[in-house]
Amino acid sequence: MSDVRNVIIIGSGPAGYTAALYTARASLKPLVFEGAVTAGGALMNTTEVENFPGFQDGIMGPDLMDNMKAQAERFGAELVPDDIVEVDLTGAIKTVTDTAGTVHRAKAVIVATGSAYRKLGLPREDELSGRGVSWCATCDGFFFKDQDIVVVGGGDTAMEEATFLSRFAKSVTIVHRRDTLRASKAMQDRAFADPKITFAWNKEVAEIHGDPKLSGLTLRDTQTGETSELAVTGLFIAVGHDPRTELFKGQLDLDDEGYLTVDAPTTRTNLPGVFGAGDVVDHTYRQAITAAGTGCSSALDAERYLAALS
Ligand code: FAD
Repeated sequence: MSDVRNVIIIGSGPAGYTAALYTARASLKPLVFEGAVTAGGALMNTTEVENFPGFQDGIMGPDLMDNMKAQAERFGAELVPDDIVEVDLTGAIKTVTDTAGTVHRAKAVIVATGSAYRKLGLPREDELSGRGVSWCATCDGFFFKDQDIVVVGGGDTAMEEATFLSRFAKSVTIVHRRDTLRASKAMQDRAFADPKITFAWNKEVAEIHGDPKLSGLTLRDTQTGETSELAVTGLFIAVGHDPRTELFKGQLDLDDEGYLTVDAPTTRTNLPGVFGAGDVVDHTYRQAITAAGTGCSSALDAERYLAALS
């Protein structure tokens, strides 16, 4: 059994690395589990990031994350590229177990495990991510000026993405599997009233084409099975998110959609000494800068919690 650490951080996106930087600079010697496959988080899968302040000419996602990692390490954060597979967060001393079965102990834990964008599950989807395929209009809309774009989905997020994108795009086609939308009436009305938005009802994306960039889609009619081709250079997938909270079920309070709930504006969860930051908590903003912001808050909350113990 390991020594009892001050703080363990689970996750290494902008939230986890920022929490690591702040707790390291407060001499708390954080132990950070970065994840086995996706150390660095969601931005490792993208190209240019133009909206993280401080980088006038933009920065590649992986470079931004390497910088954050190096900055945290510089102040003594200990980083482990492994997953946590089990936790017990209920007692004063919390335990987390890695994939080798080693149990690590700490007085405080910061959960920054992020939230996965749901995918369509099509062959070229990952390959063309950042090359025409995107899950975030706020992040990437600007790159699609005067282009023809498809948004997939029928909920509020899809309508919001489509109306936002219509500011830049030449045309936006909303591809939806059914002939009615799940989105709220207000969001639907806004999309219906937008002259740049059209709807492809009862359609799903069957194939994604383009090399090295997206050039078109094959759509399939969900009722007749007939296929048709659509030439587009942007595909925004808005079919939902899955917060990575499976590990914490039964210990930490989650909302109806599985997001971690915190006592906002703090990052305190229902368990003393356990804090939540980044997209695992956030339904609304889901940006690198907001994740980094709550990562900072979680570190300060953990620091104050630990100070009150001694
Ligand atoms: P994440 O970045 O998702 O990181 C979560 C981390 O937790 C990962 O490292 C993962 O390995 C780790 N983890 C999960 N479970 C475990 C476990 N059990 N044990 C150990 N580790 C675990 N935002 C912008 O502001 N600008 C952009 O241009 C932009 N572009 C984007 C492009 C793409 C393709 C995507 C997918 C997202 C983009 N975003 C952008 C959104 C941004 O990436 C997220 O809002 C941000 O990364 C969230 O940070 P996070 O730290 O909360 O989570």
